Amino acid sequence: IIQLYVPLNWFGTYYRAIQKNFVDMENMFDLLREEQEVIDAPGAGPVLVRKGEVEFNNVTFGYLPEKLVLKNVTFSVPAGKTVALVGPSGSGKSTVIRLLFRFYDVETGSIVIDGQNIKTVTQESLRRSIGVVPQDTVLFNNSIKYNIQYGRLTATDADVIGAAKGADIHEKILTFPDAYETQVGERGLRLSGGEKQRVAIARTLLKAPNIILLDEATSALDTNTERNIQESLDRMCANRTTIIVAHRLSTIIHADEILVLQDGEIVERGKHEHLIGQEGVYANMWRQQLKSKDKDSSIESSIEKS
Ligand code: ATP
Repeated sequence: IIQLYVPLNWFGTYYRAIQKNFVDMENMFDLLREEQEVIDAPGAGPVLVRKGEVEFNNVTFGYLPEKLVLKNVTFSVPAGKTVALVGPSGSGKSTVIRLLFRFYDVETGSIVIDGQNIKTVTQESLRRSIGVVPQDTVLFNNSIKYNIQYGRLTATDADVIGAAKGADIHEKILTFPDAYETQVGERGLRLSGGEKQRVAIARTLLKAPNIILLDEATSALDTNTERNIQESLDRMCANRTTIIVAHRLSTIIHADEILVLQDGEIVERGKHEHLIGQEGVYANMWRQQLKSKDKDSSIESSIEKS
């Protein structure tokens, strides 16, 4: 017996899943314009992003009135620089990103882009100006070309190919049965986690935003794939204001500033070397990751030997 389960309130379900997990929010906003909790101010104009400076000023926020998730969070990302958010699960990292994308409005404090409070501009313009590389990219049941072009629907074929090259997925696409016309997604060719990330990178390259939000995948790719993707990510983020939710500290060693969140508060901040020298939360996390990496590589080498 084949059971087809189509939730009645599919959009609502999808919306909340995405809102929660920060999965491919850009797609979602095209799929659905209802159910928005945040309303544009009357007469709001588009955000004008010239350089891409981002500021959080004393931001306090809770999803529920009785529980604050961010407490007095203040930081700024100068145009073109990279700030990384780290901290235990539930510390509020993704919330920072959701607020910048304006899924919710802040209670007190302000979020400012190039001098404009994001509460005063249209959501549509805000989301058009910010590129998002989510943990897990959802593909449309459409051609690989369309899936890349989604970053900028007016892009020419040459632009799409250029972006695919920049994301290092062009050669791979040429090996697909119908090259750029190959159908992907649930009903077409299934792409690997790494390939989906590359599609997200290509989309973002086409979109060419000044600001990029990057939610690093928690699911581990193999070391080689990861190193290659890191190179594409680095190229994509170069000279763009970048906020990255990091799970692997090795990827943020060169970040201009690292913010360590704990229970919604920034408890440490600074560059990698500085934090390592502090013997605090970050130094601890770093030691833990080194330890588990040693374990992994000893497992790998024992597999190789056997
Ligand atoms: P992780 O590393 O596990 O992704 P995080 O640091 O990104 O965690 P957030 O997702 O920002 O953490 O969540 C911070 C807190 O807010 C958690 O306690 C979480 O349970 C709570 N929270 C997140 N989304 C909602 C929501 N939609 N409604 C109520 N509480 C929420």
